Amino acid sequence: MLRPTRFTLLIGLLLIAAVALVACAAPPPPAAAPAAGSSGGEAAASTELNVLCTPQVQWCEGMKAEFEKANPTITVNFVRMSSGESLTRLRNERDNPQFDIWWGGPVDSFVAAAGEGLLEAYDSPNMGNIKDPDLMLDPDNYWAGVYVGSLGFVTNQNWLDENPGVEPPRSWDDLLKPEFAGQLMVAHPSSSGTSYTALCTVLQIRGEDAGWEYLGQYAGQVLQFTKSGSAPAKFIGQGEAAVGIVFSHDIVAEQLKGSPVVLTFPEEGTGYEIGGMGIIKGAKHMDAAKMWFDWALEPATQELGPNYEAYQAPTVNGAAASMPELLDVNLINYDFQYCGDNKKDFVDKFTNELAGADALKE
Ligand code: PLP
Repeated sequence: MLRPTRFTLLIGLLLIAAVALVACAAPPPPAAAPAAGSSGGEAAASTELNVLCTPQVQWCEGMKAEFEKANPTITVNFVRMSSGESLTRLRNERDNPQFDIWWGGPVDSFVAAAGEGLLEAYDSPNMGNIKDPDLMLDPDNYWAGVYVGSLGFVTNQNWLDENPGVEPPRSWDDLLKPEFAGQLMVAHPSSSGTSYTALCTVLQIRGEDAGWEYLGQYAGQVLQFTKSGSAPAKFIGQGEAAVGIVFSHDIVAEQLKGSPVVLTFPEEGTGYEIGGMGIIKGAKHMDAAKMWFDWALEPATQELGPNYEAYQAPTVNGAAASMPELLDVNLINYDFQYCGDNKKDFVDKFTNELAGADALKE
């Protein structure tokens, strides 16, 4: 057996010291990756977007499909709801919002929602695309306009043929004529932004005192109130009533489907809508909501409407209107701030004093 010499003992000691030194200098094991959503880490990009969609369902479906095509990592869920219903829903969900963005429906309701603290301000890089920022953008960035449309009267042509001598209405007063008694179908302003636009148009044309008196007479002419603003155009085409007040683009959409309806405008002036869009305060998918907001203000997006039976005029430069003649009528200088600020009071007054909202046709 070999006996260790002084030299081999020294080498052995040096080797042990070297191993100990290397062990001390070894890096620590890698830290565990932070869990998604934990503080300090980048929030994961949203894969979902919940849209509160107020225009007609075909357009909502189309916009969902188009957005998903442009953003394949995001699934859009939408619920179609009229303007007044949407506002009620947002109020009820204030502490736990289920929607991320509200798209469509007259901005009167967005003015009301912003005033109640239900919307999140967003300064989109595409705000610069808007044609008329004074009219189509909220100065505090709570909403932006995404389309424009004028109010018109819709009359069933077959009913006119059966009633020789009766002309379709061409003024607000015409709606009160005896031949239209019990022949009107309109949406109820509590649920419908369309109908609220009509109500506030009358109050602006006539002033509040005369306007409310007119609205009382007009409510007396109504056969049936509907929930959705565009529904009367469809039902009047089917002969369920003779005359209605609907956005003109919805009347044109029925005509293009072959429905026997005539479109006229009140000559003394008609109201119009700016269709709005706003991010919901406390949205759970804020990043995706901003992506939709930016996308909806692109000219190519605003030219998609006619593919989905939507003929509203765009609000951005570079997008062509499919039916510019619908805005080439006598439009009143509609005051969206006045109508938005007073929406709750005016709707309550109409509902409590003129016509309840208990039995609305779906
Ligand atoms: N559908 C269409 C095509 C519209 O243009 C509008 C108005 O913005 C609406 C629906 C609004 O719906 P509602 O009147 O039911 O609130």
